[in-house]
Amino acid sequence: MGAENKPQEIANDVVVSLAYTLTVDGEVLDEAGDADAIQFLQGHSNIIPGLERQLAGLKVGATKTVIVSAEEGYGPVDEDAFDEVVLEDFPAGVVPEVDMELEMKDEDGNEMYGRVVEVGEEAVVMDFNHPLAGKELEFKIKVVALRAPTGEELAHGHVHDHGHHH
Ligand code: ZN
Repeated sequence: MGAENKPQEIANDVVVSLAYTLTVDGEVLDEAGDADAIQFLQGHSNIIPGLERQLAGLKVGATKTVIVSAEEGYGPVDEDAFDEVVLEDFPAGVVPEVDMELEMKDEDGNEMYGRVVEVGEEAVVMDFNHPLAGKELEFKIKVVALRAPTGEELAHGHVHDHGHHH
């Protein structure tokens, strides 16, 4: 791509390498260090919107604690995402227990993860909300690197790395 300028700060259409620690309810749920930093294309909703928005303007080496509300994270808990599943719809050999997490298919064949909330005689109440729905997220982040995207990455709206080639 010739004489492209290296981006100086996080802005839309910049590829960001980000190290982070995600803490929810005082518990570290996920982390990535400098060596395994996540890469994403800023401004293309590759990451949750509440985090993306608060990264704008940061330079390489910058650190920040970003608090993301449930609304800007994985959304509020949706009461409609609780569903009754009859026992005969469970795969053979699966005995549902409270807090068990299961991969189910909806009527359209889409895979969705659910957590067992209540086990009854004939049916089970499952929660199909994202496990982090309704939770405030705390990210301690560090900007590891910035670069300009390739034309193809920009056209696709995501980064091509770590085997993501097509
Ligand atoms: Zn692509």
